[in-house]
Amino acid sequence: MIQIDALPAFSDNYIWLLQDNAKRQCAVVDPGDAGPVQRWLAAHPEWALTDILITHHHNDHVGGVEQLKRQTGARVYGPASEAIPCRDVALGEGDQVTVLGQTYQVLAVPGHTLGHIAFFSDQPTPAVLFSGDTLFAAGCGRMFEGTPEQMQPALARLAALPEHTQVYCAHEYTLSNLRFAKAVEPGNADIQQRFDDVSRLRAEDRITLPSTIGLERRTNPFLRTSETLVKQKADEWKGHSNTTHVAVFAALRSWKDQF
Ligand code: ZN
Ligand code: FE
Repeated sequence: MIQIDALPAFSDNYIWLLQDNAKRQCAVVDPGDAGPVQRWLAAHPEWALTDILITHHHNDHVGGVEQLKRQTGARVYGPASEAIPCRDVALGEGDQVTVLGQTYQVLAVPGHTLGHIAFFSDQPTPAVLFSGDTLFAAGCGRMFEGTPEQMQPALARLAALPEHTQVYCAHEYTLSNLRFAKAVEPGNADIQQRFDDVSRLRAEDRITLPSTIGLERRTNPFLRTSETLVKQKADEWKGHSNTTHVAVFAALRSWKDQF
C-alpha cells in the first residue's frame, strides 16, 4: 500500500509524494520546486527517491526535476510530445508504468497543454488519479494550448473513471472553483455543501484534496455539461444556444476565465 502526501510548493501547488513504507522508497509527481522534496529527503535520510512522474511541461511542474535527478538519479517519466527536462521514459496514450509496485495507465488528456498526460491506477484500492492541471477539484485547467474539442472529451473520460477514484490534482484552487460552481448552479445542494466544507478547511489553512471522481461528477460544472440547468447558464453567458457538450464546455471555460 502506497501512502500519498502533499508537499506544498510555491503559493498553491502540491507536489505529491508517494511512499513505499516497507522499502523506504518514494516517488514524486510534478516537482515544480526541488526544495520541498529535498527538505523531506533530508528529514528522512534512510529513504530513496526512485521515480519522478510529470504530467506536463509547465515550469511549476518540472522546475525541480533537474536538481532532483542530479541529486538522486531518480527515473523521470513524462509526456512524449513535450520538452521535459531529464526525461528517461517518454509516455503517451495507452502506456503503462510501474512505480513503487503500482501500475499506472497513462491517459492523454490534451487541452491545458497539448501533450498533457494523467496517471490512473486501480491496482490498489482506492483507485487513484494524478490529473495535473487538467481536472481540478470543482474545476479544470485553462486551455493554454488545446481546444474545447480536445479538452471536453478528455475531462469526460476522467469523469467516467470509477467514482471512488481519489483525485490528486496539482493546485489548491478548490474554493475559488466552487465560487464559480455556485454561480453556474445556485440550486445544487452538493455544491453548497462542498463550498461550506472547503471554506471551513481553508479557514484553517488545510488541504482540500484528494477529491473523488464521484464528488467531481456532482459538483464540477465542467463535468456537468449534460445538465439542463448548466446548459441554460452557458446559453445565458453566450447569448445563444449551445447544442453540444463541447460548446457548453467552451462557454463555461470562457465564463470562468473572466469570473
Ligand atoms: Zn500547468
Ligand atoms: Fe500548474
